[in-house]
Amino acid sequence: MCGIVGISDHRDAARLSHLALFSMQHRGQESAGIAVADAGIIRAHRGMGLVNEVFAGVNLEDFRGRAAVGHVRYSTAGGSRIENAQPLLVQSVRGQVALAHNGNLTNAMALRRGLEERGAIFHGTSDTEVILHLMSHAQGLPLDALCHALRQCQGAFSVVVLMVHDGRERLVAVRDPWGFRPLIMGRLPRGVVFASETCALELMGARFVRELEPGEMVVAEGAEVHSSRPFPAARSAACVFEQVYFARPDSQVFGANVYQARVEMGRQLAREMLGAAVDMVVPVPDSGMPAALGFSQESGVPFQMGFIRNHYVGRTFIQPSQAKREQSVRMKLHPVREVLEGKRIVLIDDSIVRGTTSRKIVRMLRKVRVKEVHMAVSSPAIVAPCFYGIDTPAEDQLIAARMPLADIARYLGVDSLHYLSLDGLLKSVRTAAGKKPQPPSHCTACFTREYPTDVPQLLPLGRVGRSSVLLPDAPTAAEAT
Ligand code: AMP
Repeated sequence: MCGIVGISDHRDAARLSHLALFSMQHRGQESAGIAVADAGIIRAHRGMGLVNEVFAGVNLEDFRGRAAVGHVRYSTAGGSRIENAQPLLVQSVRGQVALAHNGNLTNAMALRRGLEERGAIFHGTSDTEVILHLMSHAQGLPLDALCHALRQCQGAFSVVVLMVHDGRERLVAVRDPWGFRPLIMGRLPRGVVFASETCALELMGARFVRELEPGEMVVAEGAEVHSSRPFPAARSAACVFEQVYFARPDSQVFGANVYQARVEMGRQLAREMLGAAVDMVVPVPDSGMPAALGFSQESGVPFQMGFIRNHYVGRTFIQPSQAKREQSVRMKLHPVREVLEGKRIVLIDDSIVRGTTSRKIVRMLRKVRVKEVHMAVSSPAIVAPCFYGIDTPAEDQLIAARMPLADIARYLGVDSLHYLSLDGLLKSVRTAAGKKPQPPSHCTACFTREYPTDVPQLLPLGRVGRSSVLLPDAPTAAEAT
């Protein structure tokens, strides 16, 4: 869970990177940074916090240079510490290199151990540093060294790399052969842009050109771009959770607009729950909003904003600790009693991970004396951790990996619980992609436990598999409060 940007051949490379990172703040709120190449030297500024906080005292006009890379970070591998803030900037025999990475390497530990045995000393704990060490151990020119390093990496890596060598400044953008994380290319009136999401283009005044293909490497030197395929081909495994939750709804990801995909998921959910006897559809803002709209459109059940969101609180789940998350849910969402009291509602959210947020939300609903809460989730049950960069780490924290559906419903305090089927999810994404000749196949490991690469050993799975349950003995308002 990170956002990356790279810019080549623009006099305001740092300022544009800042705008792009600001547009991609949803991809990471722990640290931010930009590295700029000017006259054969790369300089970087990094810090902990939001983009605006990190660059508050920095005059970007002074941060000159025609090529830059930038990063916003949410740590899924390695701790939340300044040493792990990116872009990482190093000096080696092949010149300076600044690198920004989105995704997790699944073999980072093994690679790191091997490097340490050969004498490498690591500065931080992130998997990204491994790539730079592998480069420094490789032979040949900087680009060959990068390819050599990345060929040893397994798992998810969308990276942008700024290289200065023998007076040449080059920007390299690479997507791993599975294409887990997005990476797109755009054009400025003068200049080339790479970014995690298309939503970064608007503010920069750039236009969308295309997505990088899985396994593609694009090198930009000034305005010149050159594409190559340095990896053996692999089955494409675009992370479907980008569509479900992570990406910004105005972005186009893996050939589909994210908002339209989510509306479609809501429509599909309504079809799968045909005939639910309810008075209104209520989203959990903002994550459940498009799906709730789709559900309402398809079913004809009125859409109501049963919760009002306080916009001065950031994304709750992305807070690194559970205690912080729990407190911010209460600060963030407020039920509208006048809308909800005495009503039977379908409560829509995009996903349930730990179940703690949803449980709190349902309690708030019971307090304002909602008559029935039917929770509908616009993705399947998450039964397995992600090793590719989404923060669903350990199985013992995933509610659907720990207990059967009826117990989840009881824990949440709902009258019934419904998950979108996997087929329904994939169909929704395909529908939103329209008539694309070759839509990518997706990684759905968090829902299926089928991983496209080797991963660490998983725990045995509990009783899961059903996607819908109705509880005869749902708690009453009095019991819930
Ligand atoms: P919970 O009920 O505690 O499982 O939290 C579910 C909420 O967290 C939903 O509103 C989701 O939108 C959001 N969410 C789900 N998965 C993730 C994730 N991997 N990272 C951040 N937020 C997530």
